[in-house]
Amino acid sequence: MAPRIFGFADAAKRALLEDEAQAVQSVVERRTGGEPFAVGAAFLRDAGFVGTLGSPFSGKTLARLLRNPAIAGLTYDADGNLVDAGHPGMITPAQFAKLQKQDAIEAAKKDKDGKPAEAVPDYDYLFGSTDLVTCGMCGASTQGLRTNAGHPGYCCPDGPRADRPGECGKVRISAGLLEDHLGEHIVARLMLPGTQEALEAARAEAQRELEEHRARLAEVRETVDSLGTMVLHREITAKSAGIAKAEAARETKALNRAIRRLECAASTPVTGSVEELVTWWNTAPTEAKRGLALLMLWRVDIFQGGRGTRTIKPGRVKLWWRHLPPPPDLRTAK
Ligand SMILES: [Zn+2]
Repeated sequence: MAPRIFGFADAAKRALLEDEAQAVQSVVERRTGGEPFAVGAAFLRDAGFVGTLGSPFSGKTLARLLRNPAIAGLTYDADGNLVDAGHPGMITPAQFAKLQKQDAIEAAKKDKDGKPAEAVPDYDYLFGSTDLVTCGMCGASTQGLRTNAGHPGYCCPDGPRADRPGECGKVRISAGLLEDHLGEHIVARLMLPGTQEALEAARAEAQRELEEHRARLAEVRETVDSLGTMVLHREITAKSAGIAKAEAARETKALNRAIRRLECAASTPVTGSVEELVTWWNTAPTEAKRGLALLMLWRVDIFQGGRGTRTIKPGRVKLWWRHLPPPPDLRTAK
């Protein structure tokens, strides 16, 4: 059977998955505002979503999803006309038409300029969607973003934007610089005695936390399911049911993000000699390196540094290793 489409609960498209469907609605809104697919894909990755086959979203996979009429509950008939498909959709047919219009605008532009509208390939952020790299000034998880000149970096997401003033946004570090720096420190630490045991313990801990989170997620889902009945029996008001639902949606989102992170950590191979692990690091796929970093580090705080520097000055990056006590939460410490 064909794999399920992102946003639908199963391959038969009988029902929607609420959190994924909402994510699709957000990227559709951004896309119809003219945003490139690669930026929408980064937004999904940062929100902790992966494709239905388990790979992180890229501009290409997002484009394929947003060009599929199924997301609007539509399908093409034998004559190539869009018709109702008889299953739910995440967006309206009018929104799907807007998506097609945006594609047409860009195709026309591409013909005129003779070059593709999306020339910049996706950057595979090693520490993207992990909540590992944190703004040392405000405690927000950094976001993978390119500068206007196109250089990828990890940035504090809380800067001023058109729709809100923002409170920080002061920290940014070149992605390549930070990834090399962390890679060197991780490899050096792998060579120390006791690392193997520490990794195995960390993986067991990740597995335990994963099970806890999954159990909590099931609990939250059950609670949400029972809310309707409680309103019906007048045990609670529709208003408090609405508040509880919104709270549950927030918790579900946070749990899903943590679950994806823990799954990555728990599936990292940690057996084999230290030398093998070091060699492994140099050739391992991003996903596996990410998992190993999560097993070794609580968090990495980054601070402001001079512009255009090619090295990391002391104090710019603070590594919180897992064999030491966990760091304070910067967001509650204030
Ligand atoms: Zn910040």
